Amino acid sequence: MTREERENKGRRIKEKGEATRLRHASMHPVVVELKLDLKCLNNAERNKLFLYFTECRWLCNHLLGLSNDMFRDFETRTRCITSLDKDGNEVERNLTMPAKFIQTVYSSLKQDMKALAAKRNKTGKRNGKLRFRSSYDSIELNQYGNTHWICYGPDGNKNGKYKNTIHIAGIKRPIRVFGMEQIPAGAEYANAKLVKKPSGIYLMLTCYIQKHEDSTESETKPDLGIDFGIKTAITTSDGEKYDISVRESERLKGLQRKLARQKKGSRGWYSTKLLIRREYEKLANRRRAKANQVYHDIVTGRKLVVMQDENIKGWHKGLFGKQVQNSALGTLRRKLMSDPNVLVIDRFFPSTRMCPVCGHIHENITLSDRTFACPACGYTEDRDVKSAKTLLLAGKHEIACTLPEQKRTPADVRL
Ligand SMILES: [Zn+2]
Repeated sequence: MTREERENKGRRIKEKGEATRLRHASMHPVVVELKLDLKCLNNAERNKLFLYFTECRWLCNHLLGLSNDMFRDFETRTRCITSLDKDGNEVERNLTMPAKFIQTVYSSLKQDMKALAAKRNKTGKRNGKLRFRSSYDSIELNQYGNTHWICYGPDGNKNGKYKNTIHIAGIKRPIRVFGMEQIPAGAEYANAKLVKKPSGIYLMLTCYIQKHEDSTESETKPDLGIDFGIKTAITTSDGEKYDISVRESERLKGLQRKLARQKKGSRGWYSTKLLIRREYEKLANRRRAKANQVYHDIVTGRKLVVMQDENIKGWHKGLFGKQVQNSALGTLRRKLMSDPNVLVIDRFFPSTRMCPVCGHIHENITLSDRTFACPACGYTEDRDVKSAKTLLLAGKHEIACTLPEQKRTPADVRL
């Protein structure tokens, strides 16, 4: 290829990428989680897939060990690197994974370093450097049609053999996946991540769908104030209470007891450890599902939702650690704070102490008082419902509002 051809090619790629970015900016991104069915692969292919994660870790740590100049001049065609084995001895490693993966590991590290340097320049403080990784669980697949693609959707081809299959670079056979039905109709496929979790390997595929303005059923529900509590996690000004705690399963407790009895580092110990990690993953999934469900109940169809910017991190440290940890509160709060219809009230606003009817501020109120009785006007109400009502009132008059820190739409972030 002559130099001119190379430049032309570079320009074509750049223009095409820009067009895609522009098109996607007007669309709505959705991430779909597809679980790989590893049973459809033979042993060699399965090992190869797992080896990708190991090789990425070797490469990542090799790159981190290089000097600045050597890092900058790193040649992504390199196949031979050195890494340390578990006793700390240097070993030569030969990379067998597709070249594209080497490039993505290198470029994502470069990006991380750039971000660190930018932060260092901004604050003027030393902020450490990237650490060596003990695991590499998420591989960037950045080019649909090259690093990964969907072979056949749920309809499959004529004989149905390749129904619900995807292709991952370097693995010849199409891989069956679960969850293809989540992909919305008419979606445009984009980049993905190959993620290793205790329960298996997943492809997190980003799809872009057309934005559609459907205002048929939205904005019909009344405005709402919500109070975050500890006993019943969330109370709304309608008097509805949501308990969003997710308890640790008995199985998890049993496994932890079993682990304590086993010899550390033995085979049995490792397999129990894996089971525990799977159990934690399930717990996290349940927590996330619950947060999504409550979020939907609260926000969908409302113009205004008022909440208070409360210090959940502080609760974690204090008395209520266990109870807060078992609930989906943090996730839910983050989701709410980034919603444009949610108004956030300053954390010092006396929502528990103020009477929503006459505005009297009740001085001595303790956590054990479950009902609120106003000494000035005689108004009585459940303590949490009252807080939610006070917050809603404050929100309607825009008293003590703080703007959510993250008022960004996905389109803004991308541009
Ligand atoms: Zn009152």
